[in-house]
Amino acid sequence: MQQPLYVLAEGSERTRGSDAQSSNIAAGRAVAGAVRTTLGPRGMDKMLVDTSGDVVVTNDGATILTEMDIEHPAAQMLVEVAETQEEELGDGTTTAAVLSGELLGRAEDLLEDGVHPTAIVEGYHEALRLALDAVDGMVIGDEVDGDLLRAVAESAMTGKGTGDVTADRLAELVVDAVTQVTEDGRVDRDDIRTFTWTGGSAAATELVQGVVLEEEPANDNMPRRVEDASVAVVDAKLDVRSGEVDSEYTITSVDQLDAALTAEDEERRAIASALSDAGVDVIVCSKKISDRVAAHLADAGILAFSNVKKSDAGSFARATGASRLGTVSDVEPADLGTAREVRVEKFGDDEFAVVEGTDDSRTVTLFVRGGTEHVVDELERALEDAVGVVTAAVEDGAVVPGAGAAEVAVVDHVRAGANAVTGRKQLAVEAFADAVEAIPRTLAENVGMDPIDALVELRATFDRDGVAGVVAEGQSGRIGDPAEVGVYDPAAVKREALESATEAATMILRIDDVIAAN
Ligand code: ADP
Ligand code: MG
Repeated sequence: MQQPLYVLAEGSERTRGSDAQSSNIAAGRAVAGAVRTTLGPRGMDKMLVDTSGDVVVTNDGATILTEMDIEHPAAQMLVEVAETQEEELGDGTTTAAVLSGELLGRAEDLLEDGVHPTAIVEGYHEALRLALDAVDGMVIGDEVDGDLLRAVAESAMTGKGTGDVTADRLAELVVDAVTQVTEDGRVDRDDIRTFTWTGGSAAATELVQGVVLEEEPANDNMPRRVEDASVAVVDAKLDVRSGEVDSEYTITSVDQLDAALTAEDEERRAIASALSDAGVDVIVCSKKISDRVAAHLADAGILAFSNVKKSDAGSFARATGASRLGTVSDVEPADLGTAREVRVEKFGDDEFAVVEGTDDSRTVTLFVRGGTEHVVDELERALEDAVGVVTAAVEDGAVVPGAGAAEVAVVDHVRAGANAVTGRKQLAVEAFADAVEAIPRTLAENVGMDPIDALVELRATFDRDGVAGVVAEGQSGRIGDPAEVGVYDPAAVKREALESATEAATMILRIDDVIAAN
């Protein structure tokens, strides 16, 4: 008798073949279904409550999927698609998730008809190539300038609780922010910070040509506002060097004690005068400034912030052009940065430092205001999306019409290309086109149009004009050229959404065996 051979650990669970496939597909589709209704300018929001009762209200696909705490491994892959899309481009997350769900749904039908998963995977890849060509074909002009960038920013923010009145102002701020930090056509998104404050209206949101630090002065007697400031960024503790103080003294009289203390205080005073003599008006210190040194700095009329977070100190340095100093013993003028103004503002019970750099500040801050915490948080996410799309548009220099128009063109091109594909793969190429068509269909549905009528009209309009989208208008929508209402998306967002959705769907399709450890 032959002994049975155990390969897997006891208790592990194994699902194979079509069972594994349909469970994975169902999980993937469920994820896509969860975000579908949030797509587009009239998309609805989701309220997510976590186990500790914290509430997030959002329209942002990546946020929804991340907060949902999804466990199914295949569903998790779709969440990763959304997260990657969010990280790389900051927008298009819902589109990517809906698209992968659709690709999986169509694949399921093909599997039921007996098409082999490999044929589907190959067909999807061929369709993707056609789709990317179609996106390139939709790129508008070659000049991506201020007006177009503002439109791109505004398109990314519509439906995200910004309100129509403030959207154009916010778009302007975002474009200014990105333009300010662009260097050689490249944008480091870390140079655009957001700082949120609950209170006031969204319209009070502003762009600070520098940084906002959640800090208060190290001493109450320091000035609260300094103009044309020379600033120093110090990464050393500002106090008597402890090594020297501890060296054993034997104190035998009151006079000696006094002398020792005076010597120490002299040293503290010397730290303050060294900085003051170097012309420093403002100090940001990433380590501790002792109370006594702070008092001397205040006497010298210097505004100083102690224990500032390293990352904040770094941004402050980039905003002002200051070098980071490891010691204050010999500060050179070249080490100092300049700020047009540094001021301490009080909002409610909190104080913070607003640092206006100069015209060539390499760091800017979107100072986000709004009535409640939920509003501010959603506004911050909307602004981050907008920063993402403007960055993508600036770096890539390519913009396509939004509102589903790019997808309509993709559908047309992929369907036309399907004829040239032989065998069963052709079915997969057609299925890919159907899946992409779900984007304009969902947009139409979400603005309250009849989806079937909308698709028919989209095809007819595209055939006639070469461009057709679902234009949201008032409480409903119509089919037309998105340019008429200024809806544009970066081509990079469309490309990435198509690529990552295809990748996730095909990866899930290739799985025919799920082995789960207990
Ligand atoms: P995503 O997470 O994919 O960015 P959104 O909810 O932001 O999802 O919706 C994006 C889609 O909405 C894009 O196709 C974009 O072109 C479209 N869109 C944005 N503004 C409008 C508008 N005013 N009318 C119609 N479609 C719009
Ligand atoms: Mg968006």
